[in-house]
Amino acid sequence: MPNCHTCALPVPNSANVCSYCGVGLDGSGQYRVSKDGDKFTLSAGGVVVAVATPKEEVFQLKRPGALASENYLVPVDGSANPSVAILNRALDSIVQLTFEGSKSTSISATVETGLVSLRLMLRRDGEIGVHLINGDGAVVLFASQDQDSNDIGLDLLLMKPNPELLPMGYFGIIVALMQYALK
Ligand SMILES: [Zn+2]
Repeated sequence: MPNCHTCALPVPNSANVCSYCGVGLDGSGQYRVSKDGDKFTLSAGGVVVAVATPKEEVFQLKRPGALASENYLVPVDGSANPSVAILNRALDSIVQLTFEGSKSTSISATVETGLVSLRLMLRRDGEIGVHLINGDGAVVLFASQDQDSNDIGLDLLLMKPNPELLPMGYFGIIVALMQYALK
């Protein structure tokens, strides 16, 4: 049986969606990133699938209940604009983000993953709407603020996920946006 890219639990070959977290077998579907104190959680289908916990300047990205971090989100010095990297366990950079623009109007970011180059665009016209776009102009991920909710969070719709970035790469990109660009 293959494992779900998002929650890592086994999924029967005959299934189209994961029965635990509810996303498609390619990882497409609805997610939510919530901020609770200084921690962030990624959930799908009401199930927490990843947690980002700050330690000094670094965020540790883990599966819930796991002892070891899978990835690290670290600020990168030396750039005029806010810049962060997502590192793997071997401390190789798998994603780099550099933010541009002003938080009161629009923010964009270049996202380099080594596999693909993406562009993150955030517009504020009353509501927050975030688009992550690939080199063909296709929307990979859309994020918006949940108007009915009092907690700080973004609802995500992942449309064309890259399995290599599931779920920590996309989670790290949204945590970076919320922590370094929207703050
Ligand atoms: Zn799952």
